[in-house]
This record gives sequence, structure tokens and C-alpha cells, in this order.
Amino acid sequence: MSGRKRIAILGSTGSIGRQTLEVVAWHPDRFEVVGLAARTDSLLFREQVQQFTPKLAALTGATHDGWSPDETTLTFGEASLVEMATAPDIDVVVVATSGTAGLVPTIAALKMGRAVALANKEVLIMAGHLVTEASRVSGASIIPVDSEHSAIWQCLLGEARHRIQRLILTASGGAFRDLPIANLANVTPTQALQHPNWQMGPKITVDSATMMNKGLEVLEAAWLFDVPVENVSVVIHRESIVHSLVEFVDGSVKAQLGVPDMRLPIQFALSHPDRFTTPTPPLDLARLGSLTFADVDRERFRCLYLAIDAGRLGDSYPTVMNAANEVAVELFLTGMLRFDQIPWIVEEIMGRHVPVRTPSLEDVCAADAWARDAGRQAAAALPLAAR
Ligand code: MG
Repeated sequence: MSGRKRIAILGSTGSIGRQTLEVVAWHPDRFEVVGLAARTDSLLFREQVQQFTPKLAALTGATHDGWSPDETTLTFGEASLVEMATAPDIDVVVVATSGTAGLVPTIAALKMGRAVALANKEVLIMAGHLVTEASRVSGASIIPVDSEHSAIWQCLLGEARHRIQRLILTASGGAFRDLPIANLANVTPTQALQHPNWQMGPKITVDSATMMNKGLEVLEAAWLFDVPVENVSVVIHRESIVHSLVEFVDGSVKAQLGVPDMRLPIQFALSHPDRFTTPTPPLDLARLGSLTFADVDRERFRCLYLAIDAGRLGDSYPTVMNAANEVAVELFLTGMLRFDQIPWIVEEIMGRHVPVRTPSLEDVCAADAWARDAGRQAAAALPLAAR
């Protein structure tokens, strides 16, 4: 490859955004940051702009307050994300925003033929049909960033997609995998935020504890690799060393392994088809001694099955499932909902939903807003004290 790969990061102050910048800092001769976007102005964002001197910087939730960095053009407002995603002289847009903010810029970038490294789950959950269509028409690639999807992608290199029998996602089981189920009603946000293996943002860490995160990943995998939801399965793997597996029609199974460090899949998303060195410690299998695998406990991890149900139903169900969960997690984190009430809210809102067939972007956003509203109302009616 000639020259450095030019990267724009939407959501640069979040967990994935920060780790993407660490990867860039490992390889200043390979990567160049040309755009940085965040929701709110912060010391961290200003430091990032100062360190990486992108041509473009955007603050989606802010207006101008007199800050004018040298060498960087600063823009404001929601539209600035689309402007950045479609600006000239960018090789790959890393979409690391959270919530629905990444939806429109992702589709805009793909439509113009620009590669998107996708870390924002909502984009495929809510609008998988629109996103994959945009990619198909323009030929722009959607590059997986999540460790599981990166693993599957790596297992599929050199393989024909129609020879896939099954995708197998691994799941650590999160913070409460060993807690008696009766105790789930009393767990606190602080406890839920103790992930055994991964350093991640609060929303995804709670989603790991309910295993909603794995449910969203099942749906994402189905879209990314064009496999029916029914052909994606989940296995508990406590050590988070095997990042996922692919079973082929001949019964052969490939796995991808590595230390649990998000910077590795992030780097591969940016370096592909090449591989670069990393300063992370190598995987020492002998020291680990053993890797374990187990079936998922349906009662403990109801959210996984609710997400899979939404994926099977399709249409606007995944959007509604995702939005209800997001509201429930937000309420749990602020002490307004019990942990064991999260799946209850999701199921309740899915049950009340009147689906929209093959939803447009507007339909998707309307269903999202409806589910958030309905979720908040349903939660307000629930008792907070544990039974
Ligand atoms: Mg993951």
C-alpha cells in the first residue's frame, strides 16, 4: 500500500475511539487521522485534536464556543457527522459512535463507496437491510471491529461463504455468570460493571452481564456474513481467548484466538489485508492451561433469546428490542430499574409492538422513538424493590 491509510473516527472519545487512536499511535507510519468526531466538547477531545492534528474535527452536540485549533477545521451539529463521513481523501471511516448517531453517516459513507469499520452495533441491528444494500450497490466494504465478528471474518478469509454451516459466537457470560439467579434482583450497577475479561464502556458491559450484547452480536453476524439467524449459535467460553468460530459444510471448524484486547481486532480492521506488529503480550496457551466451553443458561440469559427472537421476526422488531434494552440499561445504571427487570422490559415492549414491514430509515427511527417512550412508561410502573 502506498502512503498511510487515512482514517476518520466518529466517536473518538468513547472506548473504541480511544483504543483506535492507541492503534494509530502504535503505527504513525501506517495510519493517519484525518477526522475526529465526538458528541460533547471535553478536555480529552481537545487533547486528541492536538495530538493527531486531523484536518477535520466535529462536535455533534455542541455549538461554537471560541475554540479554534490550528490546522483543524472544526464543525458542529448532527450534520457534521455525515459531512465528515463523506469528506474527500479518507480511506476508512471508523464508526464508533453509540446509539443511533452512526446510522445516517454509515449509510452515507457506504453509498459513496467508502469503507466503514463498524463498531456501532445499532447500525446493523436497526437498519441491516439498508446498510448491506448500500454496501452491495457501491461495493464498499463493511469491516467488522467487534472481536467476535473480526474472528469470524478472519476464519472466512479464503473461504467461500456458501460453504458456511454455522457461525459460533463465544460469550464470556459477563459479571454474573456464577451468581445464583435469585440474587440477580439485588445486583448494583457497580457490580454489573465488573467485566471479568474486557475493558469496555458501561452500556456494553451491562449488556454483557445480561448477554443482550451477544444477542445483538448474533443479529450483527447474520447481516455481516449473510447467514440466517438460525445458523448462528452461541457458546459460553469463560476465558475470552477463542473469539469465535466457523463451522463449514464438511464439519471442519476454524477458530480465531488471541488475548482479550480490543486493540487487536481494531488494528486488523485497519491493517487488513496486511498484519502489523502490536506491543501486546503474546498468547501463552501453556500458561492458560485450559479453555472451557459450555451451553448458555436460558433462564439466566433471557436477553440473548429475546434478541434472537427479534432477529427471527425481523422488520422493525430488532429496532424495538434494541431501543427497549437501551432504555432499560440506562434506567438500571441510574438506579431506576432492577437488573432482573431489564429482560422484562424488552419482552413487554416487543409484545406491544406493531411491526413495520421492510422499514425505511424514517420508520426505523420512529420505531426506535416509540420503543424508548413505551419502555420508560413500562419501567415507571414497575416496583423497584426486589421480591
Ligand atoms: Mg463483542
